[in-house]
Amino acid sequence: MKRRHALGWTALLLKAPDTLAAPGAPGQASIIAVRVWPAQEYTRVTIESDQPLSTRHFLIEAPHRLVIDVDGLELSPGLRELIGKVKADDPYISGVRVGQNTPTVVRIVLDLRQPVAPQIFTLGPVAAYKHRLVFDLRPKVETDPLLALVQDGERKPAPAAAPSSTQRAEAAASAVNDALGDLIQKIERPPAPSPAPALPPPAPPAAASRPPAPAAPAPSTEPKIDRLIIIALDPGHGGEDPGAIGPSGLREKDVVLAVAHKLRERLTANPNIRVLMTRDADFFVPLHERVRKARRVQADLFVSIHADAFITPQARGASVFVLSDGAATSAAARWMADRENAADMVGGVNVGAATKDANVLRALLDMSTTAQIKDSLKLGGEVLGQIGKVGKLHKPRVEQAGFAVLKAPDIPSILVETAFISNPEEEKKLRDPEYQDELVDALATGIARYFAKNPPMARKRSTTL
Ligand SMILES: [Zn+2]
Repeated sequence: MKRRHALGWTALLLKAPDTLAAPGAPGQASIIAVRVWPAQEYTRVTIESDQPLSTRHFLIEAPHRLVIDVDGLELSPGLRELIGKVKADDPYISGVRVGQNTPTVVRIVLDLRQPVAPQIFTLGPVAAYKHRLVFDLRPKVETDPLLALVQDGERKPAPAAAPSSTQRAEAAASAVNDALGDLIQKIERPPAPSPAPALPPPAPPAAASRPPAPAAPAPSTEPKIDRLIIIALDPGHGGEDPGAIGPSGLREKDVVLAVAHKLRERLTANPNIRVLMTRDADFFVPLHERVRKARRVQADLFVSIHADAFITPQARGASVFVLSDGAATSAAARWMADRENAADMVGGVNVGAATKDANVLRALLDMSTTAQIKDSLKLGGEVLGQIGKVGKLHKPRVEQAGFAVLKAPDIPSILVETAFISNPEEEKKLRDPEYQDELVDALATGIARYFAKNPPMARKRSTTL
C-alpha cells in the first residue's frame, strides 16, 4: 500500500496512526465548510467545523506569510478546498498551503500580498452555522476614508509636485469643510439649460511670464465646489451574514448591495455629492463599524438599506425606520430592530478586538440623540413619501425602534426596508432591475427633498471616531 502525501511544502510529516485517521473521531473536528470573503478593506477566511478549534499563529516576513496551526484537526478534502477558494485578485492573500504538521495539528500557510494585522478568533454556533474559526486579514495601515472619498470622482490634478499624503488629507478635509450653497440651490432650482456664466475674471495685468490666454476653451463655468455633501449608504448584512433569504433563494445581502450601488451612481451624478459605502462588496461589516465609518467622514446622512423577511410570507410593503430613544413605536418595529441588531452574531464579530470600539460606542449612545431623531424623522418622512409612490407601504408612517446602526448621535439616519423578501411577489420585484431603478429614484428624490428643506449647516463638529 502506497502512502503518498503530496504536501508541496516543508511540513514535518509524522504519519498518523490509522486509528486516528477517521474524521469525526473523538477529539478530531470535521470540517463543514471553508469560505473566503475577499475585499479591499479586509479578507476574511472562515473554517466551519463541528467542534471548536484552537489555534496558534505567527507571521513571517520576506516574503510575508501568516502561519496558523490548528489543533485537533486532520487534513481533509474539505480543508484542501481552501486552496481553490482564494481568488487571483484577492487583495491580501496570494496563495494558501495546508499540510498535516503533526498527527493532530494542521498547518495553514497564507502567502500574503502585503503586511497584515491579522485577527484570529472563534465563534460559537449561531443561526445556520456550527463552530467557526475566523482569520481576518486587515492592512497594517488603514486608508484615510475622507481622502479616498474626496478624491473619488475628482479630476486628476495637474501633475505638479506630488503633495504629501498629509497635505492631501488636509486639502481633502478643507474641501469638505465649507459652504453647501451650490448644491442646495441646484436642488431647489433645477439647473437652467444654459446658466449665465460667472463674472469673467478681471483681465490679468500683463505679465511677461504669463502665456497668452488661449482663445478656447473658455474657462470652466462650473461652480467651485467648496462644500461637499457626503451621504453614507449602508447596504445591510454581507459576507457571512446573508440577511434574509427569499422563497426562491434571493439573498438580502445581494439585492441591497445592488440597490446601494445604483443609488450611489444616481446620487454622485451630482458633482457636489460623495457617497461613502459602508460596504461595496460581499463582506461583513459590524454594526458599530458602519456607524464609525459614517462618522469618520462626517456624513450628512446615513441610509441603511434592507429587504427583510417577516414571520408570515404575506407581510408586504416598504417601511422606513429611525432610532427611538425610548420604546419602539410598535411590536413589529421592535422585532425588526432585534432582528437587524443580531446581524453581528451571524456575521461574526471579533469580540476581543471589538471591546474598545464597543466602549466608545456605548459612550456615544449616552449622547443625546433627540436632535438626530428629529432630523431623521424628517428625512424618513420624505423618503417614505417617495417610496409610497413606487409600491405599497407596510405602514404609512415612519416607525421608531432601537436599531444599533442608526445610533450616530450627529447624523440623521434612516433604515429602509425596501420590501419583504419573504413575500414571493416582493422577492420577484426585488430581483427586477426596473423595480430596483424605481426604488433608487424614490430614495434619491426623498433625499434631495430633505436637503432642499433642511440645508446642512457648515461643518463644525469634530470627528472623534
Ligand atoms: Zn436586513
